[in-house]
Amino acid sequence: MKTTLPTHTTPDANSIVKDPKKSGDGGVEIITTSLSHAINMARKHSLWPMPMGISCCAIEMMAVAGSRFDIARFGAEVFRFSPRQADLMIVAGTLTHKMAPVVRRVYDQMPEPKWVIAMGACLITGGMFDSYPVVQGLDHIVPVDVYVPGCPPRPEGVLWALMQVQKKAQESGKIYPVSRALDYKPDMPLQPVPTDEKPTKEKTMILNMGPQHPSTHGVLRLVLEIDGEDIVKAYPHVGYLHRGFEKIAEHRTYHQFIPYTDRLDYLAPLSNNIAYAMAIEKLMDIEITDRNKHIRTMCCELSRISGHLLSLGTFAMDVGAMSVFFHTFQQREYIYNLQESLTGTRMTTSYSRIGGLARDLPEGWTDQLKVFLDGVSKVIDEVEQLLNKNPIWVDRLADICVIDEEMCISYGLTGPMLRAAGVPYDLRKEHPYLAYDQFDFDIPVGTKGDSYDRYLVRLLEMRESVKILKQAADRVPGGPLNSDLPGVILPEKEKVYSSMEELICHFKTISGGFSPKPGQSYCSIESPKGEIGFYAVSDGGPNAWRLRIKSPSFTNLQVLSEILPGNKIADVVTAVASIDPVMGESDR
Ligand code: SF4
Repeated sequence: MKTTLPTHTTPDANSIVKDPKKSGDGGVEIITTSLSHAINMARKHSLWPMPMGISCCAIEMMAVAGSRFDIARFGAEVFRFSPRQADLMIVAGTLTHKMAPVVRRVYDQMPEPKWVIAMGACLITGGMFDSYPVVQGLDHIVPVDVYVPGCPPRPEGVLWALMQVQKKAQESGKIYPVSRALDYKPDMPLQPVPTDEKPTKEKTMILNMGPQHPSTHGVLRLVLEIDGEDIVKAYPHVGYLHRGFEKIAEHRTYHQFIPYTDRLDYLAPLSNNIAYAMAIEKLMDIEITDRNKHIRTMCCELSRISGHLLSLGTFAMDVGAMSVFFHTFQQREYIYNLQESLTGTRMTTSYSRIGGLARDLPEGWTDQLKVFLDGVSKVIDEVEQLLNKNPIWVDRLADICVIDEEMCISYGLTGPMLRAAGVPYDLRKEHPYLAYDQFDFDIPVGTKGDSYDRYLVRLLEMRESVKILKQAADRVPGGPLNSDLPGVILPEKEKVYSSMEELICHFKTISGGFSPKPGQSYCSIESPKGEIGFYAVSDGGPNAWRLRIKSPSFTNLQVLSEILPGNKIADVVTAVASIDPVMGESDR
């Protein structure tokens, strides 16, 4: 039966009655307050958040669980992935029309009282994606309690939002407060994507996994046909994060498109920026300076370590080894520190420019880099000790979801997936670019091509990246950073702030852009996930006439329908983690 009690204010010192005889020795202490207040105080201190990670912002949301931000201090570390067990939904990422019904459906399943935090510019206004597949704000489908601005917001922003929700929870004067969900109706049509797949045998059933599932590593949806625990067929579905990158490129100048490349593989924005800049430089026959090549090489390797650290931490978490995640996320924070001092931001770096870089290395950066390299090497050792011979880890990975050389080649797989199958193909060696030909490093390869080999190859690749970075940090060449390209290269920031002519030049170069002569180019590099390439076609205008992106995650994911049948449901988790996809670049 519902009871409505009169509301009271927060208990103060006067409302705490102490027994004078027993106080100080653990005696009786009485607080007078209302039942609703006491219940809401409990609610405030025991929020159970459910992460709804859709894209880039989700990585900063995950960072709050790490030791640097430590959401546990705010009483909300019990992350739940079932809506029935959560009262706070943290939505982080770009909401597409395809994903919107999923978010609404999950929200509807949460018990009352419930709250929603919307993280990032995309959920406020659509952010930088004014494109047809993207919903222009989360409040079109669910009521939002707190917005966190930024692209992405820093993890501190999530903690601030959490405190705002705690305030709301405490301030409600009712025992049974309800959210605005009851009288809130979506103001846009929500059409769920139907499951067209049907069982192919009498005994089998269809099981849907994702697109909101912690172990699908983003908004990947897997439709599985199962016979008991055995997988009979698997159908991967992509498109829940389709943001229309390639079309957007046709409506932005070449420089304006650089920030979009950050959001492809948002775990390696530095190397995406570089691959795109190199494609446009090839289109325009631009020769870049030695210093630029050298710094870009360091950025690519830093990205590789950053991407692999996340892959490793989440892979181990999927198999139940939580502590690895804390170790690897701590190291990623050191990388973010380096990125922030180099580019001015933690994650979405936009560091490369056509023919140059946004800024030079800050003083002492290479020294900080060396300190990091020593630290991360120790963590790699620790992870090896924790996992390499761990019986649970080996049992769950060895001989599971084998992808051999022939399958890799027929599906066009690249990166660690291909090398785990024993093929020593790496663009850094096959077609050396930037300054890679100046460094000594090896290409680790596997022997079987199973999930274990894919784990091991990434681990060993981090060691090789450390090796490259140690060599690079000691011999950064002097000379100019940017090529001499008036009208293409932006003026230095200090001059833009102090000279009207330079300000106008900056403004014109960004908004009006430059026009390469008609032609086409393709350039690809070895990103942490494989070959990422940009194919640009110019018709002589300031925007690409056409831009196509070859992303490794999209290609690598195709193999799932081949390798999952014959395995158990539990192996889906390790198979996806071993592929290490990122949906930002899959749904480009
Ligand atoms: S584009 Fe910006 S706001 Fe949108 S999801 Fe990515 S980081 Fe967040």
